[in-house]
Amino acid sequence: MPVSPAIEIVRTVADLRTRVTTWRAEGNRVGLVPTMGSLHEGHFSLVDASRAVTDRTCVTLFVNPKQFGPNEDYETYPRDEATDAMALADRGADLLYVPNIEEIYPENFVTSVSVPGIADRLEGAFRPGFFTGVATVVTKLLLQAAPDDAFFGEKDFQQLCVIRRLTADLNIPVKIHGCPILRESDGLALSSRNAYLSASERKAAPALRKTLFAFRDNLLADIPVTEAAAIARDAVLSAGFDTVDYLSLYNSETFEEADSLTPAGRILAAASLGTTRLIDNISIDA
Ligand code: AMP
Repeated sequence: MPVSPAIEIVRTVADLRTRVTTWRAEGNRVGLVPTMGSLHEGHFSLVDASRAVTDRTCVTLFVNPKQFGPNEDYETYPRDEATDAMALADRGADLLYVPNIEEIYPENFVTSVSVPGIADRLEGAFRPGFFTGVATVVTKLLLQAAPDDAFFGEKDFQQLCVIRRLTADLNIPVKIHGCPILRESDGLALSSRNAYLSASERKAAPALRKTLFAFRDNLLADIPVTEAAAIARDAVLSAGFDTVDYLSLYNSETFEEADSLTPAGRILAAASLGTTRLIDNISIDA
């Protein structure tokens, strides 16, 4: 049986900085790919994107307690560091940073990064505290690793916009790259949480993205946004989803609902199948 090459794993900021500082002193450009682990092709596509424009790629694996609500799945979120490490070595990542919890949230830690406005809407409205948790941990990871480039998926489109905003506002010297959504062959966006879906839920799941396309077609046929959104929500529920948190056309700067097609518009949705909440989005011209 072929043996996978090992990947170096560091668990402290000091070890992370030693490695990254050495790379940069050698003239290498360094890319960072933050994740919560349970890696799939979506994550690996970020590693590929980093390898395409940098010389060294560091992946981080940290299930961030501050971005989970009290009734969310922090305890049960899938974790398998050994499998992730092996897969990352195969995919050509150079370093895996798995911080000990005290490296991120030491005793007496109180600071948080919040991005009012963007982060109050959609995901932020349905998951109070989520974006502050994300913004705080991403800020810390960027400051700890000090990469030249960092890679995030458009799967979490609003999150990507929050991260772009905070790096600009705080003058964090990193280039943020947004990468396209990787999907299953039936169109379902890859997600670590897809593992929670039962067989019948998994069958219904691709209806979310299909409906986003139908919604877009209706907008292009000049059906008003609110009417098209109502049709789309009904379609998602008829396909077997239990709830729709939001589904419409939004301004991708403010995340307020848009009243007509604009180049800055993005179609975003969140809906649940049983206890599994899925998010997805498409651009107007996808
Ligand atoms: P997570 O581990 O869920 O925090 O995701 C880590 C990074 O992978 C985030 O930037 C996500 O947007 C990105 N990601 C997750 N799923 C996908 C996907 N299906 N396609 C592209 N990027 C993804």
